[in-house]
Amino acid sequence: MVNHSPFVVSFKKHYPWVQLAGHAGNFQAGEYGRLLKRFCECEQQCLQKLMKDVLQPYVPTYHGVVQRDNQDYNLMDDLLAEFDSPSIMDCKMGSRTYLEEELMKARERPRLRKDMYEKMVAVDPSAPTEQERAQQGVLKPRYMQWRETLSSTATMGFRIEGIKKADGTCNTNFKKTRKREQVMQALEDFVHGNTHILKHYLQRLEELRSVLEKSAFLRTHEVVGSSLLFVHDASGKAKVWMIDFGKTVPLPAPQTLDHRSPWVEGNREDGYLWGLDNLIDIFSSMLPQ
Ligand code: ATP
Ligand code: MG
Ligand code: MG
Repeated sequence: MVNHSPFVVSFKKHYPWVQLAGHAGNFQAGEYGRLLKRFCECEQQCLQKLMKDVLQPYVPTYHGVVQRDNQDYNLMDDLLAEFDSPSIMDCKMGSRTYLEEELMKARERPRLRKDMYEKMVAVDPSAPTEQERAQQGVLKPRYMQWRETLSSTATMGFRIEGIKKADGTCNTNFKKTRKREQVMQALEDFVHGNTHILKHYLQRLEELRSVLEKSAFLRTHEVVGSSLLFVHDASGKAKVWMIDFGKTVPLPAPQTLDHRSPWVEGNREDGYLWGLDNLIDIFSSMLPQ
């Protein structure tokens, strides 16, 4: 016979925390399934506004600023806390991953960059123009724009940043994952061919899209470099959240964005919803009809 104790005490389990992008020193473990991310005012502003927006259920709950060793941190929920040995994927959304402002800054005092030329040649020896080759240097704006064409960012409005699977294998080498077939292969591998998980992700993405379309926050912000974090585990639970608002900036009123129109410099469109449309289309096409 099994004895059921009337008092159930649940201990927060210990689990290895996983970070798929960014600098290693930017995060610290917090208590009660929370984590600390190095303070960034822009991100704080966004998280505060998001807590009052319809998007709130799709964003880690924000708990304010805390200090540790003289450093400020934004305290937020750890999205992995409710999973057992989770598989995780970070998808960076949008058709460009720099702000218009960064492009403008890069244009001030134009300087030929040998370091960027060398990075370019290392990835693709045929990328530099004849002139760039002769100069052995490229301008920073040109480098920034070229880099977006390597992955699916420019062609599909999102790119995979990293995947960590439950078996411990981790891949952050997706910089040249550009073609639809390559993305599908990576997603297939991520869900281990499990159509149940795929279906759950698809549902969550469609739900998120319909909320994003109603969100006042989304309408009034340029969202750049933000990611969707996909998390699932063997229990079959699969969820998606929006993370990383370090480069999400408010637009001057009354400007708004539709997040689907192509970017023309000056219109600040970021392709966020266009990318989500493409991602949803890919997930749908992977499910048996
Ligand atoms: P970058 O700008 O280079 O992308 P960053 O320093 O802004 O990096 P984030 O992108 O916010 O950092 O997060 C990096 C990684 O940390 C994510 O890919 C994810 O694996 C993990 N992560 C971030 N926030 C959370 C969270 N709330 N819960 C669980 N994991 C998180
Ligand atoms: Mg990020
Ligand atoms: Mg960031």
